[in-house]
Parts: sequence; C-alpha cells; structure tokens
Amino acid sequence: MFFLGIESTAHTFGASIVDDLGKILTNVNSTYRPPTGVGIHPRKAAEHLNEVSSSVIEKALQGPVERFLPDAIGYSAGPGLGPCLRIGATISRALALYMDKALVPVHHGVAHLDLAMAAGHSHDPLAVLVSGGHTAIAVHLNRRWRVYGETEDITLGNLLDMFAREAKLPSPGGVAVESKAKEGRTLLSLPYTVKGNDVAYSGLLTAALRFLNNGHSLADICFSIQEVAFAMLAEAVERSLVQTRKKEVLIAGGVAANQRLREMIQMVAEDHGATFHPVPVQYSGDCGAQIACSGRLAFESGITIPVPESFVNPRWRLDEIDVPWIPRP
Ligand code: AMP
Ligand code: MG
Repeated sequence: MFFLGIESTAHTFGASIVDDLGKILTNVNSTYRPPTGVGIHPRKAAEHLNEVSSSVIEKALQGPVERFLPDAIGYSAGPGLGPCLRIGATISRALALYMDKALVPVHHGVAHLDLAMAAGHSHDPLAVLVSGGHTAIAVHLNRRWRVYGETEDITLGNLLDMFAREAKLPSPGGVAVESKAKEGRTLLSLPYTVKGNDVAYSGLLTAALRFLNNGHSLADICFSIQEVAFAMLAEAVERSLVQTRKKEVLIAGGVAANQRLREMIQMVAEDHGATFHPVPVQYSGDCGAQIACSGRLAFESGITIPVPESFVNPRWRLDEIDVPWIPRP
C-alpha cells in the first residue's frame, strides 16, 4: 500500500509517499521565502504553491525504480492560510476523483506530532508543538489531543519571525535569530509571562523591538529573546509534566529545530525522569511527510471523506479532531 500526503498550509508545498508500515519513501518540498523585511503574504505564498505543485507531486510519485501509484490521498485541511489550503485541497480532490482513490483530511498540527512520534520513537508523550501556527503543550487522552497549555497570544514562531522581520534578518526568522544569538553575551531584561501552563509572547516582542529601536546590540537582543521565551515555555512544560506524570517529552514543529530550545526541554524532561524525544531536524518544519504519515494512520483507522464533503478549515484547533490511533504500541 502506498499513501500520498500533500501539504499546503502556509509557505510550503510538499508531497510524500509512505508505505503500509509508515516508512517514508519520498518527501519533496518547496518553500516560499518572502524578501527580507517582509512577512508571508497569503496570496504570494499561494502563487508559489500553485507554481511548484505539479513538479513537487511528480517528483514524489517517482520512486528509485518504479512510479508509485497511491492507494489513498491525504491533504492538509487546516489550520493555515485559506488561499494556501485551497491549493492543496483542490489538487488532492482532483487526484482522488481521477484515480478513484480515498481522500483523507489531515490536521496539520496532529500531523507534526504523528511524524515526530514516529521518527522520534515516542508512544504516549507530553507533546510540545512549536511552529509558526502552534505553541501548545498537549497530552493524548480518550481519542483526542488535549491542550494542556498554550500561548495566549502569538506563537513562538511568530515571535521569532516578527522580530527578525523588523530587524531585517532573512527568512526563516527563527534560524536567523538562533544564529545571531550565538554571538550574544548580555541578558537584557524582557517581560517573562507564564500563567499556569500558558505563556504570552506579545509583550516580549514589543520590549525586544524597543531595544532594537534604541540601538542595542542585535546579538544580545536575539540571545535574550531566546533565553526568556524558551525559559517561559520550559517552565510551562515542567509544570505540565509534573501534573500529567508522562514518561516521555516530545518536541515537534519548525521551532523544534532550535538547539537551545531542545537543550532546555531536554533538561526539564531528564530532571523528572522522562525520556526526551525531539523530532529529527529534517522533519521539524512543514513537509509532505507529516501529512503522509498522519494521513496513513487516519486511513488505517477508517477515516476518509467523500470528495463533495471535503473541506478546509483555516482555524482548526488541535483538540477538535478525533485521533484514535494513539497511544501506539
Ligand atoms: P513550521 O510552521 O512548522 O514550518 O515552522 C516554521 C517556524 O519555525 C518559523 O517560525 C521559523 O522561523 C521557525 N524555525 C525554523 N527553524 C528554526 C530554528 N532553528 N530556531 C527557531 N525557529 C526556527
Ligand atoms: Mg507547521
């Protein structure tokens, strides 16, 4: 059995084939990069996804020996940018109809976690999902991910991207901030806002921009943003870990590529006798493989949707969808 997954929630168009054991056979992705100093414009991103879609799918279907004929197709149905979501959904519907194959709607956040669990060998984790669209601490209970803690305003990815944009650092902002932070030495005083298991980052962003406009060292600001923003999340993760008594801590999503964040979350996990399961860096950002991996699990659980009823939902929450395939043996 071959399963085709198509990702198109924001800046990346991805396509990937997994087999019936979830082994990733192909994973082809093309990411839109806005010019320095500019954010992702949904229409511009959608134009990029549209342009690259055929060649990305074509490459993903081509195996080393033979061409893969998928038995079912999964698409990212949300959350994400409407114009981008509709590109992937439309292509997936057309493929499903033409090939007469089942169509599976996939939640992009659940897909980050499914790929991270498979690649990071985790079975029943306290999951930390940090990306452009999510900052959430979740545990799986009674067929659903339950959000145990989250951001009350902007996501950790937004914080890094918005700061980087104003500082004229190149996209992706998180990578640029991480690299600048390595030269930072002085910890500047930035707002630290943790409320129970939740965090809030917009005050920190405002204060960091004020330092930038006042001519402080960019390296020190980047260093301080990372130290304070990551420590806030680490505190919320620690509290959640003590309360849920999970034995595994998983970290997934684009920001999970950050070495300093991994270090801090690993420390929290190990302090409490839990094992640490970071997503491998090559699978941290948005990619076709996450949709293929999660879509296959949904398909095996009997989840499909007739093409005329298929949908996209730009504001789909992580805890609004049944996920009956976790915990996994
Ligand atoms: P995703 O939406 O999962 O593709 O994640 C995208 C987010 O991850 C963006 O906000 C990026 O700036 C961020 N990101 C990517 N690499 C890193 C990194 N090394 N450190 C921090 N953030 C990162
Ligand atoms: Mg993502």
